[in-house]
Formats: sequence, structure tokens, C-alpha cells
Amino acid sequence: MRAGMTIAIASGKGGTGKTFVSTNLFNAIVGEGDGAMLIDCDAEEPDDTLFFNVKRVCSREVTQKIPVIDAGKCTFCGRCREYCNYNAIFFLKEARRIKVMDDLCHGCGACSAACRSGAISEKEKPLGTVTDYLAGENLKIVEARMHPGNKSPVEVIREALKEADTAVTVLLDAPPGTSCPFVNTVSAADFTVLVTEPTPFGVADLKQAVKALKNIGKRCGAVVNKAGMGDGEVYAYLKAEGIPLLMSIPFDRNIAESCSKGELITDTDGRWKAEFRKLFETIRENL
Ligand code: SF4
Ligand code: SF4
Repeated sequence: MRAGMTIAIASGKGGTGKTFVSTNLFNAIVGEGDGAMLIDCDAEEPDDTLFFNVKRVCSREVTQKIPVIDAGKCTFCGRCREYCNYNAIFFLKEARRIKVMDDLCHGCGACSAACRSGAISEKEKPLGTVTDYLAGENLKIVEARMHPGNKSPVEVIREALKEADTAVTVLLDAPPGTSCPFVNTVSAADFTVLVTEPTPFGVADLKQAVKALKNIGKRCGAVVNKAGMGDGEVYAYLKAEGIPLLMSIPFDRNIAESCSKGELITDTDGRWKAEFRKLFETIRENL
């Protein structure tokens, strides 16, 4: 695998062990001296840094421009409303009422361009932060974190993805689900590791994630977590779809306990360090 390859770790739903795989894979890669960086794109609940002894380096605010309409200058011509593709402008001509609905606004600027009366200015709306951490010498973790109350983490994720270092392997801890935040993250990856569980719910979510990846022409492999639970449907599905099974992680109380204490199993158990190193080699082979 060439340096600069980007690997997303994703799952169709939360709680499948995606963060466990992301953090331990990162630890196993850098533990062998290979360069890597980890970007936590799970911007609604980022927690990758909890597993490392990190030092915060810098943080920047991600904002979006939101138009502000000065009713005193407005002629109530309605042009801004016509130009808005997102129905984000509430407009009642007869009642002379006009208002931008922040939650629907995409900050495209079309209304400002359309207004001939100079009635529209812009304000910056804070969406979230992108923070750089160092976990040991030159090991960079980037965290996307959306501010509570915002409707979508996509812009914050996009800003975090801009920090990907093309000279090293980049791991993306993707947001759960298969909607826009997931698609934006896996679109930036060369390969996606889908973490799933061998249960009917796990298989249903896996199918959604595979469908979303196929739609954008992205390759993937699977890690089955809590192997030994449930039935064999997940394995039959992977075989039928030609999706490589990259790794199986057995249901193990020790792993769950270690994780809940903020420990990395690749630090505390040499067998698992070797297993995650093998996972990295298997991903390479599949690339
Ligand atoms: S910036 Fe774009 S999305 Fe927002 S109100 Fe103006 S035209 Fe609509
Ligand atoms: S385009 Fe300008 S003047 Fe016309 S309704 Fe919108 S804000 Fe008012």
C-alpha cells in the first residue's frame, strides 16, 4: 500500500465497536513505526482522544455565513426568496414580513447576490471546532466536534478532512449511520472497514452501509465484532456479496472492560497488537 492511503472505519449504527477498531488499528500502525494520523469524524460524539495521552496543539472554529436582513432597507421585492433553493427565507409580501430561517440556510450567498437594495448583510454562525492533538511524538489526532444544537456535522467533518496528511496512512473514524456525514467521510477514503455484529440488526445495518458504499463506488471489507454471538447470516451475506472478512473479534468481557477503562487492548495484550497489525496487512492486501 502506498503512503498516503486513507482508510475509513465505519458502521451502519453506533455501538458496534467502530471506535475500538479505529483506535487500536491506529495504535498498532504507529507502534511499529509506520507514520499514520487519525481523524475522528464522529463529530456528534468524538471520543478517540480518550484512549491516548494527548496534548492539545490548536483548535479552530468552523463557521457558516448566515444572511441577516435589514427590514428598514428591504423593499419586499421577494427576489431573495426566489433565489433561495432551500426555502430558508420566510416572506409575506403583503404583511411586509421577512426572516431568514437559520436552520434551513446553507450559506450559499444567493440571496445576498440577488438583493439590489443592500438589505442583506452576513453574520458568522459557529458550527463546531476542529482540534489538533499530538499523541506522542509526531502522532497527530484531529478531532471534528459539532456544537450541540446544530443540524448537521457535515461542514465540521469536511474541515477536519482537509487536515489529512497525504504522506502517511490516514484513518478516519466515521460517523455512524449511512446519511450525509457517513457519505462525506467515506468518500474521502480509498477503502472502508465496516464494523458489524453477527446479529439480525447488525446484518441489516451492514447491508445499508454496503449499499451506500456501492452507490458511490467505494470498496470495503468487514470486521465482525462480538463473533460467536448471533447466527451465521453475516458470514453468508459477506460471502454472497464478495466482501472480504478482514478480522473477527470474539465476544470477550476483558475487551469490554479494558475499553470502558479507556485502555487500548493493543497496549495491554501483545496478542491483540499482533492481530491489529495483521488487520492492517490484510487491508493492504485488499487494496
Ligand atoms: S444564503 Fe442561500 S440558503 Fe441561506 S437564505 Fe440565502 S439563498 Fe437561502
Ligand atoms: S431581495 Fe432584498 S429588498 Fe428584496 S425582499 Fe429580499 S432583502 Fe428585501
